[in-house]
Amino acid sequence: MPGVTRLSVRDIRKSFGAHEVLSGISLEAQDGDVISVLGASGSGKSTFLRCINLLEIADAGEIWVDGEQIRMIHGSGRSRPASQKQVDHIRSELGMVFQSFNLWSHMTILQNIIEGPVHVLKRPRAEAVSEAEALLEKVGIADKRHVYPAHLSGGQQQRAAIARALAMKPKVMLFDEPTSALDPELVGEVLRVMRALAEEGMTMLVVTHEMSFARNVSNRVVFMREGLVECTGTPDEMFGDGASPAFRQFIGHFAN
Ligand code: ADP
Ligand code: MG
Repeated sequence: MPGVTRLSVRDIRKSFGAHEVLSGISLEAQDGDVISVLGASGSGKSTFLRCINLLEIADAGEIWVDGEQIRMIHGSGRSRPASQKQVDHIRSELGMVFQSFNLWSHMTILQNIIEGPVHVLKRPRAEAVSEAEALLEKVGIADKRHVYPAHLSGGQQQRAAIARALAMKPKVMLFDEPTSALDPELVGEVLRVMRALAEEGMTMLVVTHEMSFARNVSNRVVFMREGLVECTGTPDEMFGDGASPAFRQFIGHFAN
């Protein structure tokens, strides 16, 4: 459904002690948008994603997921969500993929994938299993369904983690440097899965240092610097002449 706003973040702020990490970040993702979030280490990218899926609670600002505002209590002390029930619901609408895969090591790949659908969404087990098998097929590791994560390569584990997130049928997928922990030869297989998802119309917010993904797969690029959106635009604008000097300097580090 193009034109439907899946995610809207308005002026969020977050400090850790006296250190303001997010200084008023806004971003809107329409259905099917693939937004690459770029920025130097320490610019607040992970904190930004963690605030969206409520692993951290922003000190101020608004977050809307698929038209529903997350209700917050911004008191004199620490901010907190108004309703744990809403937090659980919002989390189920946001798929998160981390740098470090984060699969459950004591479960097989199939068990990892059906855990959320069966225990959180209360789906019948047989249905969850057949959907999981289809997802494993899609990410190219159907033959690994009864294997434990430790026996997979990093690229296979990350593809399993993507399948696990997709099993919850999220409205938006959040990726935090999904290929940064991988050996270079395994990066491509994960990026291919992400590109296929993008082409299917999944709404995605992707923190990455993969400039080819930012340029060729995303339809928008956001450059974060010191807790602010320093500039944003289409890949053509950002990698052409439209970007700020700071962004040009940043991408200069990735030029070969
Ligand atoms: P990025 O993902 O862009 O590298 P982060 O969001 O991880 O940036 O971190 C931004 C800044 O916030 C860093 O200076 C980091 O040390 C600090 N920070 C992140 N999480 C915490 C935390 N839980 N407690 C204190 N400081 C934190
Ligand atoms: Mg980070």
